[in-house]
Amino acid sequence: MRVLVVSAHPDDETLGAGGTVARHARRGDEVWVCVLTDGRAPYGAAECTLRAADVLGVKKVVFLGFTDQRLDEGALLDVIRPLEQLVADFRPEVVYTHYGNDVNQDHRVAFNATMVATRPGSGVRRVLSFEAASSTEWVPPFGGNVFAPSVYVDITDTLQAKVDAMRCYSDARESEVRPYPHPRSYEAIEVYAKRHGVECGLYAAEAFMLVREVIADEEETADGT
Ligand SMILES: [Zn+2]
Repeated sequence: MRVLVVSAHPDDETLGAGGTVARHARRGDEVWVCVLTDGRAPYGAAECTLRAADVLGVKKVVFLGFTDQRLDEGALLDVIRPLEQLVADFRPEVVYTHYGNDVNQDHRVAFNATMVATRPGSGVRRVLSFEAASSTEWVPPFGGNVFAPSVYVDITDTLQAKVDAMRCYSDARESEVRPYPHPRSYEAIEVYAKRHGVECGLYAAEAFMLVREVIADEEETADGT
């Protein structure tokens, strides 16, 4: 299976879906990560992303090079086009990206651009939104803004890989990792994973909102089932 993670910034892919990515990789799925912003200004985090990707088993990281915290200043089409090209080249079946109502504007742009790039006809069968700690849960709880998980993935065996991947981001010029109880602390990553686990009867889990799933006949017969 081919899996694409669309992340606005370096570290979102780890915070949002790191355990799930490692789980995919361990099952033999090919995972690519696309980071929309360059990760050099102001954090110097691109190198960290490559190291985190190694920890998680990601095959390839694609940086689109947009300016950090400025994604919403340009035309959405400028973000959509390279994403469409990536989807056409890699042909992912599953795509993970941000939650569309995050407090961070870059995350919203990432969601909106991904919705277009993965629209019906793109070949993508499943689109899911992840949480980005310190953005998704900090949104004002009005007007249907609250992240409401509908899919849980068991990350009991990959929670440590997620934490280890996050450790790579402590080496950025300005560390992405904060002391507990900040949501981007190692302890908080474990707390969130266990909380989502409690919600679904698992030791540790990542939670997603299912945006779209297409179940087609050829998918069911592809592996002879
Ligand atoms: Zn972010």
